[in-house]
Amino acid sequence: MRLLFAVPLLSLLATPAIAGDVEPRLTLPAGTHAVALTFDACSGGVDERILDELIADRVPATIFVTHRWLKRNAVATTKLLAHADLFEIENHGENHVPAITDRPTVFGLQTAGSLSAVLQEVTGGAGAVSATFGRAPIWYRDASARYSRDATQLIAGLGYRIAGYSLNADVGASLPAATVSKRVGMAKPGDVIIAHINHPERPAGAGVVEGIKILLAKGVRFERLDAAFPTPTG
Ligand SMILES: [Zn+2]
Repeated sequence: MRLLFAVPLLSLLATPAIAGDVEPRLTLPAGTHAVALTFDACSGGVDERILDELIADRVPATIFVTHRWLKRNAVATTKLLAHADLFEIENHGENHVPAITDRPTVFGLQTAGSLSAVLQEVTGGAGAVSATFGRAPIWYRDASARYSRDATQLIAGLGYRIAGYSLNADVGASLPAATVSKRVGMAKPGDVIIAHINHPERPAGAGVVEGIKILLAKGVRFERLDAAFPTPTG
């Protein structure tokens, strides 16, 4: 558990909810010419079309995994571990629960509903990443990419950066392949792309692969979040 501020935790848990969601936008630091590919592995399986393309063309990416996904995808996990030079693994939570505290559902998903449940979701996911990959996560992205304000304060207080995005490539892997490839292929320098790597049964993943190939043909360089936002040392 990456608890950097042990004392404020109880007071954070007691902080009343503040109205209004946060949907953080993230771009790479100003002047960065690279593009960041981030993938969510929520639950379900692994999209080997995407994974194999990343490996074949040596494209670095940041992958947000849940503990739930890790438990069901041992073979894919071994593949990620075998290519640790390409893949940064970050925290998508324990059970894919949105960090929303003030209402019961969002986008049809049952929310955490309380700060103590958000804490369990974040620390449970972090523990699974650390145990599986031998490296504590730096970034957190929840199930809905939306957060209650009190949840963002809790997550930041635990020492994590919240991973927004600037380009939604697949809208939860729901878009047709041609639309997804067009969206990815139009990425601009500094964009942080979000897509899904857990829906092999849907057309969207083929569009992600095609979009990556478009960007490679344009000479676009890809950068992981840990490289784009180095953690201060010392
Ligand atoms: Zn997800």
